[in-house]
Amino acid sequence: MNTFDALSLFSGGLDSILASKLMQNHGHKVLGLHFTSPFFGKPDQVPEWEREYGVPIAVIDVGQEFVDLMAAFPPHGFGKVLNPCVDCKILMLRRAKELLPLYGASFLISGEVLGQRPMSQRADTLNIIRNEADVRDVLLRPLSAGMLPITPMEESGLVDRTRLPSLVGRGRKGQYALAKALGVTRIPTQAGGCRLGERESARRYWPILQTFPQPLSPYFDLANVGRQLWRRVEDAVTGHWMVMGRDHKDNEKILKLVRPEQYVFVLKSFPGPHAVGIPVPGLDWTEEILAEAGSCLASFSPRARRHGDVVEVLATRNGEERIITVRPDAPHGFQDNLTWPQTRAEQKQWERGLAKG
Ligand code: SF4
Repeated sequence: MNTFDALSLFSGGLDSILASKLMQNHGHKVLGLHFTSPFFGKPDQVPEWEREYGVPIAVIDVGQEFVDLMAAFPPHGFGKVLNPCVDCKILMLRRAKELLPLYGASFLISGEVLGQRPMSQRADTLNIIRNEADVRDVLLRPLSAGMLPITPMEESGLVDRTRLPSLVGRGRKGQYALAKALGVTRIPTQAGGCRLGERESARRYWPILQTFPQPLSPYFDLANVGRQLWRRVEDAVTGHWMVMGRDHKDNEKILKLVRPEQYVFVLKSFPGPHAVGIPVPGLDWTEEILAEAGSCLASFSPRARRHGDVVEVLATRNGEERIITVRPDAPHGFQDNLTWPQTRAEQKQWERGLAKG
């Protein structure tokens, strides 16, 4: 395996590119670490970034660790939506530190800029992140180095502090000037691409966190696809969750993500969507609920509805197939997931409950 001097948190955003290039420019051999999960990460772009920016990159999946963090409620809380930015940084830096020996590297690089983000890049928060991730001795934030306390890497002369910038605040002028100086001509768009900061995604994720005692990372991949339907009786979620394709592409994605213990629902004789039912451990899908799921599926098929009679739905689980006969117009409890304001209200109520202990 190749060895490196430093590992750099490489999200693909401008700051991570600049921090990596800057250290390369100082003569250090840098490996980018691109963290992925159902919520963030663009592993498909890695080869292009490697070509464009000349930084080798390793893709690191932190999906389950991240889901465990979300399920246990992030100690530093959420940002404006469902983004636990402080705990996210701590998790990534801890993981990066664990990887140092594997790559023979001696320090970590992060593109954080002092004062750039309200939640995770204030001076006090940068300290909390560094301390809780236990990276005090190995973390360099080169873009704001001149504004931050001296690190062991600078003190020992491994990194020349006098050549490091002092970027600070939300403006981007300093970054653009640095990009020019480093020969970075392709500037990525500002958007970070983290779904946890998007309301539409957050309302898909929230009921999973509330329903499953130990949610798995692939559940959130399913939450990123198609229509999210949760069964409700008298406004209360019963714990029965179905993901239904909205088009052919969704159907294909759903079938790729399905696990053996989950139900796949398909109409037997009519074109229509595919759906997957995701059971909560210990909570059965009774005959009645399977029939409701079948009716819900059939109701989304115009031809099944026009048929005007009962239709057959094929339900497959653990390799076993069964036919469910349903009416497309039969009542069922599967409904679209909550709107963002409703989700936010639930989230706040939950946080208040946790605060009370
Ligand atoms: S925006 Fe998303 S990826 Fe970025 S720090 Fe926050 S939670 Fe992590």
